[in-house]
Amino acid sequence: MEKNEYRRKDVMSRIQYRRLLASEIFYDGEEREHLPLLEKMTAEGLLYKEPAIREEKGILQCARCGSGKPFLGEVSNCSRCGKKCLYCRACLMMGRAASCGFLYSSAVSPVQHPGLETGNLGWDGKLSAGQRQAAEKLVQCFRSGKSWEFLLWAVCGAGKTEMLFPLISEALKKGNAVMLCTPRRDVVQELEPRLKEAFPKAETAGFYGGKSPESRFCYADVAVATTHQLLRFYKAYTLIIIDEVDAFPYTMDKKLQFAAGQAAADKCMTVYVTATPSRMQQRRAASGSLESAVVSRRFHGKDLPVPRLVWAGNWKKQIENARLPKALRLFLKEAGERQVLLFVPEVSWLNPVQEALNKWQGNLRTATVHSQEEERSERVKMFREGSLDVLITTTILERGITIENVQAAVLGAENAVFTETALIQIAGRAGRSSRYPTGMVSFFHYGSTREMKRAVRTIIQLNRWNS
Ligand SMILES: [Zn+2]
Ligand SMILES: [Zn+2]
Repeated sequence: MEKNEYRRKDVMSRIQYRRLLASEIFYDGEEREHLPLLEKMTAEGLLYKEPAIREEKGILQCARCGSGKPFLGEVSNCSRCGKKCLYCRACLMMGRAASCGFLYSSAVSPVQHPGLETGNLGWDGKLSAGQRQAAEKLVQCFRSGKSWEFLLWAVCGAGKTEMLFPLISEALKKGNAVMLCTPRRDVVQELEPRLKEAFPKAETAGFYGGKSPESRFCYADVAVATTHQLLRFYKAYTLIIIDEVDAFPYTMDKKLQFAAGQAAADKCMTVYVTATPSRMQQRRAASGSLESAVVSRRFHGKDLPVPRLVWAGNWKKQIENARLPKALRLFLKEAGERQVLLFVPEVSWLNPVQEALNKWQGNLRTATVHSQEEERSERVKMFREGSLDVLITTTILERGITIENVQAAVLGAENAVFTETALIQIAGRAGRSSRYPTGMVSFFHYGSTREMKRAVRTIIQLNRWNS
């Protein structure tokens, strides 16, 4: 009896703020044994349960992630029900949502809430005038208590996390848990400790794949989660902050929209934070149908470096002959002692470019990185510590990386992977610190593109605002 009481409490604490499969609630593998308990708790009105695969107007859909037909697989002999069964492939990594299974959520309000003091700020830095304006507008919107969508357009290096502190503090003080969502796991890992430091009285936790089950279902006043992990949260948040929305490919974006919709409480403010809003978002913000704030100044107050478009000729042919285009050699000479991030369009160009660099100057310390590279974080760390001169990379490093006094160059900027968004992010790598607020950014090309010109135009426009 006592044991059962304990189990009930366990279920309620794991499920608060969330919607889970039985196999997620009982992650220790005793799911079948505990199903009667879940049934009982549902009958008692403690839990809601709903089919994991639902049918609406004849259309089948995964209730957890919203994926439809192409993602629904079929097994003829399901390990659980023994019959023909459908399951969702799109969210399989989080447990099998199958047509014979259910999703459980809490029918009572959460047991844990942020305490009165959780909103106390342990951060004593100062916001710039631009940051403060945006921060105040965010807080006002939240206070108004309506269902808001908010676009925070903050240039690379504007200090967007700090700008969010007053808003997060406000939500916590009102007894609301806060969710921050970002597409990338390394960003979750970077943000979590910063939030912990900023809100020392609050429970903070990062949620991403590969964590232990106990920590996967722990309670957090301030949660930071990847898109997939966000799918587990349900009707929980009055404030959801989505970081770098533009970083999602379109399909991911749809999934995120769905997940954010599920995680939102009936009244919820959703804040989209981005350095490069989509044209649609920009239009909506301009027309006033989307509340917004623009922070076009970096926190150190200096202009964003404006990229130079530089003709490099047939660079592919030159690189194939282990020669660096002349324009790039001049750039590297000008950079001198300063470190350079060199972007190339495809993984296949990493090694040839490295060879050409080393042939040109044998003492240059170089390395390459791409998304599948096992030594990626090790090499980035070496670059960060200054033991490399040039880091050659695919667009994987375009955002998130902050290195003092780094110069940025793109070779083959005419390639389709270098969209306006990607190019603006790349340019944003340079001149981020107040010690070195300027920097060189060059796009080397074999024929300039509309995206390159747009990136330059947008940066010039941002520099003009507020000046
Ligand atoms: Zn699914
Ligand atoms: Zn089944």
